[in-house]
Amino acid sequence: MPPPPPTDISSTPAPATGPASGGPKELRKRAQLRDVHVSVALMEEFLAYARSNTSRGIESCGILAGRLLAGDSTFAITTLIIPKQEGTTDTVTALNEEEVFEAQFSRELYPLGWIHTHPTQTCFLSSVDVHTQCGYQTMLDEAVAIVMAPSDVSKKCGIFRLSTPGGLGLVQKCPQRGFHVHPPTDTGQELYELCSHVFLNPRTHHEVLDLR
Ligand SMILES: [Zn+2]
Ligand SMILES: [Zn+2]
Repeated sequence: MPPPPPTDISSTPAPATGPASGGPKELRKRAQLRDVHVSVALMEEFLAYARSNTSRGIESCGILAGRLLAGDSTFAITTLIIPKQEGTTDTVTALNEEEVFEAQFSRELYPLGWIHTHPTQTCFLSSVDVHTQCGYQTMLDEAVAIVMAPSDVSKKCGIFRLSTPGGLGLVQKCPQRGFHVHPPTDTGQELYELCSHVFLNPRTHHEVLDLR
């Protein structure tokens, strides 16, 4: 982080035209989550990118980025970023996060979460996944974790978030890493939940940025 600029209390504040350095415009905090629109086509295309890993039982991940639509009440996931990554049978880690950040920033995109495969496991968030989601959701309340589990017969796709305030607060304070057990939340909420602010919208167009 650059040091804060020197403060001159006698000067009038500059008009709020957004940061001169680019990036998406600053968001106003809202009491309610904004809706998030995503297309099934994006998820299917992600599965196609993941196919060779999936056939070997290795997880893959993608980063979800998007724009705020007119009225500021809805995000659209417009960009699937495939980062350099390291997958195992039950984890996947995005590498070169600065490169992903730069790709989003230069296109003025908001970080709206992530998508990953469970090639052999069912559709859920592992204890490692909830920590990854915590990072995205701390940046942006609306961020989601999409899990694609092609071998799960009952649920092949889930769109999740940490419950708030219970789940998010618990994981933010959890010092453990790797697979571990989380205690119940203080609020009695489940640790994570299916998103009710996400809508599958076939008219949400997307592009794919493959950084591998
Ligand atoms: Zn997972
Ligand atoms: Zn934890």
